[in-house]
Amino acid sequence: MNIVKICKDAKRIGIGGHIRPDGDCVGSCLGLSLYLKKVFPEKEVKVFLEKPSDHFSCIKGFKDIVILGRAVREEPDFDVFFAVDCGSERLGDAERLFKQAKVTVNIDHHISNAGGTGTCNYIDPEASSASELVYELIEEDMLDADIAAALYMGIAHDTGVFRYSCTSPKTMQAAAKLISFGFDFPGLIEETFYEKTYVQNQIMGRALLESMMIMNGRCIVSYIDRKTMEFYKVTGADLEGIVSQLKLTKGVECAVFMYEIRSLQYKVSLRSSEKVDVAKVAELFGGGGHKRAAGCTMNGTFHDVINNLSVHMEEQLEEAGA
Ligand code: AMP
Ligand code: MN
Ligand code: MN
Repeated sequence: MNIVKICKDAKRIGIGGHIRPDGDCVGSCLGLSLYLKKVFPEKEVKVFLEKPSDHFSCIKGFKDIVILGRAVREEPDFDVFFAVDCGSERLGDAERLFKQAKVTVNIDHHISNAGGTGTCNYIDPEASSASELVYELIEEDMLDADIAAALYMGIAHDTGVFRYSCTSPKTMQAAAKLISFGFDFPGLIEETFYEKTYVQNQIMGRALLESMMIMNGRCIVSYIDRKTMEFYKVTGADLEGIVSQLKLTKGVECAVFMYEIRSLQYKVSLRSSEKVDVAKVAELFGGGGHKRAAGCTMNGTFHDVINNLSVHMEEQLEEAGA
C-alpha cells in the first residue's frame, strides 16, 4: 500500500484511532499525521480521538488532536480518512467521518479485524503494533525525531517495552532505526509507560489487594467499581497497567481486570501467558484484540462476568491439556 499515492489528490485528510486510546493508538495516529503534514504541507491533516491521557502530551501534535464530541459531528467530509489501530466500528464519533470519506484506509494489527474495514487495508495481525505498520508504510527519508518518537512510543507500549511475544526481529529493527534519530527514548518510556500518579498507584494497590485466584490458581481476577473510581477521582485511562501487573503473578495463565462503566456494566481486559487465546474469548462477548491481550464490554455483576469468562478460558486450557 502506498499512502503518498492514496493521499496525492486529497485536500482534507482525517485520521482516527480507537476509543479509550492507548500508547499505540496515540503514537500511530500522531506519527502518521506528522508524516503526512511533512510530505504534504499544503494539505489539511486532522487527528480525531477520544481524550487521551495527558501522559502522551510530550508527543508532537498532541495539542492539535480534535477530541471526539460536538465539534466532530459538525466536521465536513474528508477526501481520505484513516482508521488506525482499529476497525471503523471502534472509532467512536469519528466513525461517521470514516464512512462518509471518499477513500477509506484501515491500518491495523488486531486479529479480530483481519479483513479490514477500509477501501484500502493494511492489516497484519503478526505486527507488534499499529505504529510498526505505520513505520513500514512511510518513506524512510522523511523520518525525523518527532515522527520517530511517536512511533517508538507506540511500539514500546504495545510490546510492554519489547517483552511480549508480539515482539519480532522486525519490531526490534524498526525500534533500532527509530532511536537513531536521537530523541530521549528512555525518558519517553519512563514518562509515558512506567510513571504513575500517586492515585494511579493507590488504586492499583486496591485492585491487587482485592484480587482473587480462581481456576486452581491459573487465573487471577480483580475489579474496581464506580464508587472507588469516584473516590480516587480516576477514569478508565488511570487503570491501564493493572491487568499486566496481575498477570505477573507466578503460576497464572490468565488475568482478568474489569472496571464498572455504569451500573452492572464492565469494561473487561484479558491477558494470557501462552495457552489461552483471549481474543477468541473476547469475541464471544462482542469484543476482540490479540491472542495474548484482548478486551470487551460485559453486562452483569462482577461474579456473572467472571463465571461467563472462566468457562471459556477453562475450556481452552483443557483443550491445551493444561
Ligand atoms: P485493553 O484490555 O482494553 O487494553 O485491550 C487489549 C487489546 O485488545 C488492545 O489491543 C485493544 O485495542 C483490544 N481491544 C480491547 N477491546 C476491544 C474491542 N471491544 N474490540 C476489539 N479489540 C479490543
Ligand atoms: Mn490500541
Ligand atoms: Mn495496537
